This record gives sequence, structure tokens and C-alpha cells, in this order.
Amino acid sequence: MKKQYAFLVDSELCIGCFTCAMACRNYYHPPEGVIWRQVYPLDEEIYPHRERAFYSLACNHCENPTCLNVCPVEAYTKREEDGVVVHHQEKCIGCGNCIRSCPYGAPKYNPVEKRAEKCSFCHERLDAGLKPACIQSCPTGALSMVDLAELEPGNQVQYPAGFPKMEDVNPSTRFILPKLPRLVRR
Ligand code: SF4
Ligand code: SF4
Repeated sequence: MKKQYAFLVDSELCIGCFTCAMACRNYYHPPEGVIWRQVYPLDEEIYPHRERAFYSLACNHCENPTCLNVCPVEAYTKREEDGVVVHHQEKCIGCGNCIRSCPYGAPKYNPVEKRAEKCSFCHERLDAGLKPACIQSCPTGALSMVDLAELEPGNQVQYPAGFPKMEDVNPSTRFILPKLPRLVRR
């Protein structure tokens, strides 16, 4: 398997502080309402406990990205060196095909630029030897990056409950499920 960078979302460690989402905004300054990374509390049907659990989600830098496949002007590329899916906004004509086709809702419409945009895995930071801003900022280590080509099998899952199972697209994000609360007997 070729190198494929991926976000590893550890819901055991995530405290839902939104620092990752804020770090992303601080780094890229998208207009209000244009959100590249979001922290989602899990629904009660998925995590039926009094405690809350969270998934921090952005673009999944998929193996076979629909965004790239439907773009009429080749505004998307997938980097050979690490599998990161890059949107080249200067080429984008704002047709919205990628926004409508992504099963994970990752690309967003920027009404100021009148073009799409999404998480870039901070590839400029990667090239400078730095971590993505979201990962750098997480105070608990709940968000990290892995190379799927080197990831040892373990307790990571690709499709936790509520996350669309799209095997053709093959999203790269991996999850560690939230821990179950300790039962206290009275
Ligand atoms: S999550 Fe959506 S926008 Fe990101 S690479 Fe996959 S198909 Fe493209
Ligand atoms: S910064 Fe870390 S702990 Fe805070 S919401 Fe994001 S992933 Fe969770």
C-alpha cells in the first residue's frame, strides 16, 4: 500500500473542547459559517450514556475521492507522496459538484470567494515538517495522524456507528471508539 496519511480520532481521549476546530479557523480564517473541521457530540442512540462523547471530523482524504472524480475542471488532486486530497481554489469555478457529491459533507461553499474549499490536511505545514494545526492544538492527544500503510491492526475502526459506510470511496480517517462509562453499583 502507498503512503496514506489519515486522521486518527480517539474518542476515548476527546473532551469536546473544540480546540481543534478553533485552531483550524485561526489558521485559515474562513468566512463565518464555512467550517472545515467540526466536533460532533454523539447522538444518544449511538452513545446512550449520561456522559457525552465526541468525534472531531474534517475531510477524510479518501482513497477514491468523489470530490476529485466529479470536478469538471480538475480542481482536486491527490498527492502521490502522502495521499492528501488537495483542493486548488484558483481552478475552482464554484459549480458545487464536489459539495453535493461528498458523502461526508467535507467541501463547503465559500460565499465570499464564490468557490468551494475544504480541509487541506495542512499540507504546507506537512511539507515544512509540522503537524496539521488541529493536531498540534489538541490538548489531550485525541487527534493525531497516522500512515495507513504502516498502521498496525489494533482497536481502530473505519466505520463507527453513524459514519457513512462508503467502501468504494474508502475514507482514510480511523476512529477509536469512546469508552463505556464505569457502572457504579449502589
Ligand atoms: S471526504 Fe469528501 S471532500 Fe474529502 S476526499 Fe473524501 S470525497 Fe473528497
Ligand atoms: S482539541 Fe482534541 S480534545 Fe478538544 S475537541 Fe478537538 S479532538 Fe477533542
